[in-house]
Amino acid sequence: MEKYDLIVVGGGFAGVSAAVTAAKEGCHVLIVEKGNSFGGAAINCLVNPFMYYSTKINGVQTELSQGIFKTICQKLKERGALEYNAFLEEELKFILNDLVCDAKIDILFHAYIFDVQKIGSKIKSISVATKSGVVELEADYFIDATGDAQLAFLAGCKTVLGRESDSLCQPMTLCFRLGNVDVDSFMASWDKLKLAHKQALENGELINPRENILVFKLPVPNVLHFNTTRVIKMNPTCYKDVTCAEIIARKQVYEIYEFMKKHADGLENSFLMMTASEIGVRESRRIVGDYILTEQDCKNCTKFDDSIAACNYDIDIHNPEGTGTSHYYFPEGEYYTIPYRSLIPKETDNMLVAGRCISSDHGAQASYRIMPTVCCIGEAAGTAMGQAIKSKCNVRNINIKELQIALKNNGAFIGIDVR
Ligand SMILES: Cc1cc2nc3c(=O)[nH]c(=O)nc-3n(C[C@H](O)[C@H](O)[C@H](O)COP(=O)(O)OP(=O)(O)OC[C@H]3O[C@@H](n4cnc5c(N)ncnc54)[C@H](O)[C@@H]3O)c2cc1C
Repeated sequence: MEKYDLIVVGGGFAGVSAAVTAAKEGCHVLIVEKGNSFGGAAINCLVNPFMYYSTKINGVQTELSQGIFKTICQKLKERGALEYNAFLEEELKFILNDLVCDAKIDILFHAYIFDVQKIGSKIKSISVATKSGVVELEADYFIDATGDAQLAFLAGCKTVLGRESDSLCQPMTLCFRLGNVDVDSFMASWDKLKLAHKQALENGELINPRENILVFKLPVPNVLHFNTTRVIKMNPTCYKDVTCAEIIARKQVYEIYEFMKKHADGLENSFLMMTASEIGVRESRRIVGDYILTEQDCKNCTKFDDSIAACNYDIDIHNPEGTGTSHYYFPEGEYYTIPYRSLIPKETDNMLVAGRCISSDHGAQASYRIMPTVCCIGEAAGTAMGQAIKSKCNVRNINIKELQIALKNNGAFIGIDVR
């Protein structure tokens, strides 16, 4: 069996940026993904667009997510595939593929991690289910970028689910697209549609409890993207619940499409172009790490000594129980940072977690979960692994200052001054 320096599990924004960065640091890297491409939720769940990630600092509009995320955006722009933060998925797949291949990373698609072998506090290998059967893969270090903290969970690390009071997670959403839409007519009829929707909700005519219709334009003509189904009170890590959620969500897609055809203009010649291949999971397991980033830390705009990324996307909580979405917006010019310690599960020495499942509470996760920020978290995890692998040390014993300087030198914004 070939042994790697690092195995990254999960090929979303966090996993790809982690793998590419670690490979650039000289590590021999394998990335394992259950799907057939990179991009994670952006591809599997059709999540679009990138949520906003900039603010005015000292009078200058500053992007809080730079580094590899900025490179990806530049490449999307060059291919005409990025407009007002909305992007074309097929181009994104291609760009991420190139990034991973150019970094000489070994790739395994269609490989689902289901078991972990550990010796003491070290993960030794992982077992993945493939078309050829079960394959065991060995490495010195691991990054869990599965979104669900699947590797950490299988390794016996403590994880928490959803909000603190009752473990309910933010709702799941099956995104969908309509084609051949007269977009201008549709938008012109928005107020009429909004009113009809409000009345239908009040009269209990809809199974979908979401308070509004969330729609985005894409960089293609005559297509509208909807992020508007809402499946509540289901556990995104329970095999039965996710099946049930897919079925409910699909009913909601047809329900809202039929409803819009009755109450909006511009859909006369439209058709249901696609639903995502997987229901989107906003929130599921989070690890319990060396530091738990809290909602209060975010609201205090805390800048940690071991900052590795910055964020000020609003604390955006879609009601886990039904109608309503709450927002806490950060004042202009303000942001919080994410500490490196939140990437380290307490129970292991050779694993980092990157992406939406790092160590935090429910409120903090509702902010940093966006694609630009998880991409930066991944970049930090990959860079840290470069150091850990070189010095063969416990991931919590790397030199933080060196990590921060390396991130800064690679064009990342980490929200604090380092020299
Ligand atoms: C409905 C919805 C709307 C959203 N809207 C926005 C938005 O508008 N803008 C924005 O910026 N963000 C949005 N987000 C948030 C954002 O999409 C996610 O939080 C982010 O993409 C998470 O990235 P990640 O890399 O941590 O995980 P993911 O993108 O989920 O990547 C994890 C990868 O791991 C793989 N994987 C999982 N389990 C296994 C396994 N057992 N074995 C092998 N591989 C595995 C998955 O296939 C996946 O490719 C939204 C999320 C949802 C669900």
